[in-house]
This record gives sequence, structure tokens and C-alpha cells, in this order.
Amino acid sequence: MSTNTNNNGLPNIDDLQNLANELFRTLPNEFPKEISLSPDKSEHPRATKIAETILQAGNLGNTAPIPAQDPLNIQPNPNSFSGFGATPTIANYSNTGASALYPNAGAGFDPQSGVTTSGVQEDYNLNINNPHTGFHDSNLKNGASPQLTEDSFFSQLLLNNQYLPFQTENSSFEIELQAALATVDTQFKKRDISPLNGNGPGNNYYFLDQNPFAFDKKSPSPIVGNTFGSKEIGAITGTNFNAELIKKDFPILRETVNGKPLVWFDNAATTQKPQSVIDRIAYFYEHENSNIHRAAHELAARASDAYEAAREKVKTFLNAGSVNEIVFVRGATEGINLVAQSWGDHNLVAGDEIIVSNLEHHANIVPWKRLADKKGLKLRVIPVDDDGQILLDEYAKLLNPKTRLVAFTQVSNALGTVTPAKKIVEMAHSAGAKVLIDGAQSVSHMKVDVQDLNPDWLVFSGHKLFGPTGIGALYGKEDLLNEMEPYQAGGNMIQDVTFEEIKYHKAPNRFEAGTGNIADAIGLGAAIDYVTKLGIEAIGQYEHYLLEYATKLLKEIPGVRLIGTAKDKASVLSFNLQGYSNDQVGQALNKEGVAVRTGHHCAQPILRRMGVETTVRPSLAFYNTTQDVDTFIKTLWELKKVRF
Ligand code: PMP
Repeated sequence: MSTNTNNNGLPNIDDLQNLANELFRTLPNEFPKEISLSPDKSEHPRATKIAETILQAGNLGNTAPIPAQDPLNIQPNPNSFSGFGATPTIANYSNTGASALYPNAGAGFDPQSGVTTSGVQEDYNLNINNPHTGFHDSNLKNGASPQLTEDSFFSQLLLNNQYLPFQTENSSFEIELQAALATVDTQFKKRDISPLNGNGPGNNYYFLDQNPFAFDKKSPSPIVGNTFGSKEIGAITGTNFNAELIKKDFPILRETVNGKPLVWFDNAATTQKPQSVIDRIAYFYEHENSNIHRAAHELAARASDAYEAAREKVKTFLNAGSVNEIVFVRGATEGINLVAQSWGDHNLVAGDEIIVSNLEHHANIVPWKRLADKKGLKLRVIPVDDDGQILLDEYAKLLNPKTRLVAFTQVSNALGTVTPAKKIVEMAHSAGAKVLIDGAQSVSHMKVDVQDLNPDWLVFSGHKLFGPTGIGALYGKEDLLNEMEPYQAGGNMIQDVTFEEIKYHKAPNRFEAGTGNIADAIGLGAAIDYVTKLGIEAIGQYEHYLLEYATKLLKEIPGVRLIGTAKDKASVLSFNLQGYSNDQVGQALNKEGVAVRTGHHCAQPILRRMGVETTVRPSLAFYNTTQDVDTFIKTLWELKKVRF
């Protein structure tokens, strides 16, 4: 790109701006994607700073000083919100920001250091045992601007990346940016991913610093065994869980929405995918693509091995007793329908009873209701209390000798309630009933051990576990699966076919008729590798902290009604905001780059039980940070200021 000069021999302001933006667009989301040298257009706090510096340095056609701006655009508060002071400015923001945002943060706020319970200050490493330390947020820092000419700005910026104009040398932002630049693939080089020859991905992954595909190898894997907690895994040391670092493994989290960094709070609907999953699927199509199990050629062997390796990963992830207990399905919905049709339809008779809970997703209601209507079964419902918690004593009253099945969710997608799954299973079994657990919302947040929980079936969807869509798993006890009628019929699931008689395979092939979703099953295996490396317990612990943090701040906003206040919750914060429709709240959040779901969440019975038709539902995952929560909370405060 050539740079024109103006009358003073200085570069043209538009060219400068374009040149800078070309670079910024290659950086991760925490850096501005665009700067505008017109101060009133610079919204990203860093962009504001950059524009300010450039204009100061070169005085490029704009003699008016940039007015001091609040980098987060905080407005003075209405009088009713005690604790809000004057509008913070760049100069005083680091000391006022947190308290201004959270007037009730109170006890945890140290005005000297700016450290608050909001966790927006300090270090990169969050110490879960000490929630007063949080994530580094250089937006809130007030680095002095070095005085540079535009020449030195661009030559240094573009040639050696040694020095940037908007922070002092060695400032944290400078260090961050250097680190980011070092990993930016500006040449769009092809990734070196070779699961079969054992070459690792080099520095292509922030978190997975070893070959993420190693489990697929036929020979003993170099990373079999538990590497969690070892120093090779950069993002976790001890109890430190570095969500900022983890976030960088998810390319989509570098997207901007309405010019703002994307905050993905729609994890209960679907999760984002780490680079290792994306690469694994691409690798399959580049090097392994074949149908499985039915050929002598090399690619069929590669594809079959990779597919079966993925099944092994699901088995290990759920701690199932055998790979024969893992059936690949499209997702939780298909898993439940499979059980309803192949077990329910053939084993239940009129007068039999099925119990579900009031918390269920439609996927765990509709198949049973249809079956009940078709066969004259009775569908009974475990009630919940006003917090959205299962009433175990009421459940006990529903159980009787006619109860043939209890089907319930381990985590409610609408409220976040974690149900006492082990207890529910035990009680059902003691009544002689079979049990299906809907694990769609649990497997990504907590250890799900089928031998410990002891359900007869458990289902989950890959796309809610950082894997691809169109793939999931049904766990079933092996003997039970082998007694069940096939679900669909065709190729792959038969041992022998004549026109007189058909012999079926045993599970799992019995239930995998036709060509399955091979590539995405393998992608799911890669997602499980990723989650396993982070450590599901560490994930649960971190998310618990984040949920508590968000809940506390959300409750402080006048007019917020939290829906679902169970003691034991995971990921989900459902709420209404007085004065706004849920869609309006969703749209306002979207303007700030925050993705939340609004609606009935395919769980109408439980929302109606809580007295509402719809909610706004942010849902968290391990790559979300307190800074993401802060953006979300701040937007709600802004809404409250307009209408209350
Ligand atoms: N159960 C629960 C609790 C869910 O949250 C969902 C998805 N929202 C499902 C079942 C259905 O999952 P899928 O659409 O992936 O089949």
C-alpha cells in the first residue's frame, strides 16, 4: 500500500488510518479492529488511545485536542443510584471505573489499587481460591502516551513491532500486543497438523501445546495419561485458570459484532469450537476421508481408526465400562428419540408410567408425550420449588410399581438448576424403573461419570461440548442396548441379511444404520481432548466462580428478576429486566457485542411454572471472563438509566 503525502509532507490521514487498520485486523479481539482518527468515532478504548496518540504526535489535520473521554462511555448516574459519581475520564478511570460500574461492590473495592471483587484488575492468572484477584484488563489502565512522530510510529509499528504509540514501552498492553503479533499468522501459512506422523501443531495452539490428535495414533500415545496440571499446559497451573489464554484457542472469539469484541454468552444453545477441533475435521477431509469399516484400503483403515478412537474418547470421558456402550447419534434429541422408539415403544404397555421433571427441555418431553399418547401411558411430572429445585419428596410420591421410566435433565437449560441426579437414579431403580439422564447441559460443566451416576442411558450433544453440530452420543448399559430393538435399519447395523431373515449387530453398530457423521464424530473426539486437557473439574470450579460473580452483579441491578435461584446451578442466568421486553434487552446486548438467547429456550413448562413465558438467558463457558461479564452488566445498567 502506498502512502500519499499532504502539503506538509506528512502522510495522508486516511492512508495512515487504513495502514493501521490493516494491521489491527490481524490481531485478536482484545485489540481494536479499527481505529478512526476522528476522535468522536473511536469507540474501542484502545482505539481512542491510539487515535489520540497519532493525532498528538503528528497533529494530522486536527488541531483540536481530543476531549477527555470515558473509555467505556460511562454516563453520570441517576441520583437514585447511590455511589455513582462524576463521569470518569481517561485520566481518572483506573481508580473510579470499578466502583462507578458497581456502586454496591462495596466491601471488595480497594480505591488505592483499583482491585475489586469485579475482578477486572490485576493479573492474568485468576486464583480461584482468592476471588479478589482477577484478570488483567489494560482497558482500565492509564498508560502515558509516548510522543512519537507519525514516521517513527509507522516505521516502528510495521517494521520491528518494538514500540507502539499508545502505551509506554514495556507496558502490559505492549507486552500483550507483542505476544499477539508473534502468533498472528499474517502470511496465512498452512498449519502443520499431522496426527498420523506425530508432528505437533507447533505454536498454533495457545493452550494445546502438544499434539492434540495424539490419541488417534495406533501406537501408544505420547500423551496418554494425565497431563493436566503439568507445567507443559500453559493455561492452568494449580488453581489458576487462565480464561484469557484459553479464549485465544477459539478463533471465532476474535470476531467483532457491531464493532465490539464478541462476548459469547449463548453457550447453552451451542458452544464455540477450539482451533484444534476445526483443524481436526479439516485434517480428516484432507488425509483420511473414507467410509468406515467396509474396505481393505488404507483410507478406510484411517477413517475407521479415527472414528473408533473418538468412540473410545467418549467412553473415557463418561467413564463408561466399554466402547460398546457408546452409540454415535446426531445429538441429545436423537438419543432420546432412539430410546423412546427402540426401547419405549417395544417395552411399555398401556397403564405404564413415565416420570419426567418440570425442568425438562422439550427434547425430553415431546418424545415421551407422543409415546404416552400412542400407547396409553401416563406421563407424570416431578414438581420444582420456587427456586427451580426438584422436590425429591414429591418425586418419591410419584414412584410406584407402574413406573417404568424416569427421564430427567442433569442441568436445566432454562434455569441452570443442577438436579440431584444420583439420588434420582437411585430412587427410580429402587422402584424398578429404568432411568435416562439428559446430559446435554451437564457434560461441559461437570464430571459426568456414568458408572457413578448409574443411569441406564445418558445422552449429550457434541455441539454443546465445544465439538461440531450433528454429532452426539447415547450411552447405554451394554446388556440393555443389546436387548433393544434397532432404531433405524439399513447398512452397517446388520451381521447378515437374506430375504428370509436378518441378523443384527450388537451395540453400538446395531444403532448406527447407514453412513454416520464420521468427520464430526472425530471432531467431537478432539473437543473431548481439549476439555480433558483443561480438566473438567477445573472448568467447573472456574465457571462456578464466574457464575457467582455474574449473579452478584446482576442481582444488584434494580428491576432485574432472576429466574432460577437454585443452590446448585451451572452456567445459566435467566432473567427479566423491568421496563424492557426480553428481545429489547437481547438487542441492546447485541449492540455491545454480547450474544445472549431470549425466548422460551425450548422449555416452556418450567418457564410457565416460574410465571414467565420467556427470559433473557446468558449462559457461561470456560472461555468467558469477568471482563465479558462486566460488559454485559454495564449494558444492563445503561438500560436501567434510560427507563426505570
Ligand atoms: N436437552 C437439553 C437440556 C438441552 O439444553 C438441549 C439443547 N438446548 C437438548 C436437550 C437438545 O439438544 P440438541 O438440540 O443438541 O439435540
